[in-house]
Amino acid sequence: MKKEVNEKIPTPKELEKEIGEFLSKRFGDNVKFMSPVVMTHRETTDEQEAPPKKKQTIEFDLKPEDLVAYLDHYIIKQDQAKSVLATKICTHFNRVKRFQTGEDSEALDMVGQIKNNVLMIGPTGVGKTYMVKLIAKRIGVPFVKGDATKFSETGYVGGDVEDLVRDLVREADGDIDAAQYGIIYIDEIDKIASGKNLIGADVSRTGVQRALLKPMEETDVDMKVPHDPISMMQEIEKFRKTGKRDKNSVNTKHVLFIMSGAFQELPEIISKRMNTQHIGFGGSIGKTTEKNDWLKYAKSEDLIDYGFESEFVGRLPVRAVFEKLTEQDLFKILKNPSNPIVLGKKLDFGAYGIDIKFDDALLKQLANTAFKENTGARGLVSAVENALLPFEKRLPSLNIRRFPATEAFVSDPERTLSLLAEDPGSDQWMTAFDQLLQSERDHIASYLNDNWDQWMDQYHLSLTPVRAKVIADYYSRRVVDIGTAIGVVKTFHEKIKEIELKFFKTHEINIVLEEETVDYLMGELADGSTTIEGIYRKLTDNFKDGLKLILEKTGKNRFFISKGALLSPEEYLNNLIRDELRQIT
Ligand code: ADP
Repeated sequence: MKKEVNEKIPTPKELEKEIGEFLSKRFGDNVKFMSPVVMTHRETTDEQEAPPKKKQTIEFDLKPEDLVAYLDHYIIKQDQAKSVLATKICTHFNRVKRFQTGEDSEALDMVGQIKNNVLMIGPTGVGKTYMVKLIAKRIGVPFVKGDATKFSETGYVGGDVEDLVRDLVREADGDIDAAQYGIIYIDEIDKIASGKNLIGADVSRTGVQRALLKPMEETDVDMKVPHDPISMMQEIEKFRKTGKRDKNSVNTKHVLFIMSGAFQELPEIISKRMNTQHIGFGGSIGKTTEKNDWLKYAKSEDLIDYGFESEFVGRLPVRAVFEKLTEQDLFKILKNPSNPIVLGKKLDFGAYGIDIKFDDALLKQLANTAFKENTGARGLVSAVENALLPFEKRLPSLNIRRFPATEAFVSDPERTLSLLAEDPGSDQWMTAFDQLLQSERDHIASYLNDNWDQWMDQYHLSLTPVRAKVIADYYSRRVVDIGTAIGVVKTFHEKIKEIELKFFKTHEINIVLEEETVDYLMGELADGSTTIEGIYRKLTDNFKDGLKLILEKTGKNRFFISKGALLSPEEYLNNLIRDELRQIT
């Protein structure tokens, strides 16, 4: 029998809303429904019909030292590069901001201004991309990364950098204004140097450098891809209908360009120059200095010697040199509670509902393996993958929920997995997990104590031992970076304090939750044993009537709720009533 459908079929928007509401009821804010988005082109036909362009102002009030402190949370070593990048990028965006607010608008029209475009020099896997991504995220500007080798390979000079500019708009969700203040990062820039001994490829390499000159300074990039028949036909059709053309281009005047490369042969060029120039210390550095150490003496003339056009070098006035990472640095990267490599692995196992904790011995071993690969921290990713793959494959079928990734278990996967297959609830396994869980929490708590000054600036929350414990608990229960865990706990703090106001508005009774009480409640929220509504309800049930009675009898209307009061409300109220009444009589 055909089932009658009387319900109205929901539109995709309604459906999305309904599923979203269901998911947030069921799982809270941790899960979000995202429907596949169909990008529709803006259907505006001319400037009059286009929505009024809002004057874009970037929210930016960072100072260089704030940005350095932020980078310190995530990036191991690279102090010189951190200060150069943080300072110059802050300066760039503060200048842009003054321009937007009109404070420096005339100055910015000055001819021949030089942008703070940056050249980063350093081997692979030492944090160049990571640093720029972190900065773009902190500042809240769109960011895209491209590869200079693509430019030369295709021989399609000029096209690719314009594609990157268009990608910026995509990154900014179609907001051209925002894209005009974005960051374009181009890696492997050393590959477009025209080597002196190279034949053939040189012309196109110099050509690519030249093609980059304009966008790096200022140019208008059309949003429509040239030679793309579809967009050309759309354009013709639009013009035929309206007699007007779209003005749809991105200006790169404020786009910041950051280029990077390993520049393998640059140290030799620098040392040669310094030695022939007989600069006092030149000769002595030659004997004692590691190859990479020469890079900090790099000058424009060395880059020109390397094979860059002087105009190109001139457009990259800011230079940052990245250091090589030692084995100990790689271990520190793995131990950093915000590092995406370990967090990524936690997410991989989390996808099967498996909670994974690492021991230091394993992390040291992984750092050692990665170091031998000589690809900086990039080697860590493959070392972690290789070591854990047998477990990622097998544990989901064994229905294991906790994985103590110790060196002993991980170094002999076959033995470990057959042991687990026989006894999935093995005591040895469970005890190892509990120990790792505890040591992770201890590590986070001590990390917070050591680094609190930096976090404090960002979150304006004072750290108490209880709070450190609450943050550590929250961190070890989910897969989040440390900043997110602090942010969540800070929100708990604010929400709990808001309860005082709500209590007053609803019951006209002034309660003050003492800090110790707030800390205790934050702990309960973090371990999921209560909710903000639950706390409010409990306070109302336990205190409203008693406090109202005291208010009526004595006129007193300010009650401090200690942790003791929260846990034994009856005793608190009885004592309060007795004391207050004694004062009256
Ligand atoms: P590259 O220097 O080649 O651009 P990346 O920045 O892409 O290297 O580094 C790859 C990954 O290694 C980063 O995502 C990050 O997780 C880690 N990493 C690299 N260098 C550092 C560092 N100095 N501190 C912390 N993590 C790092």
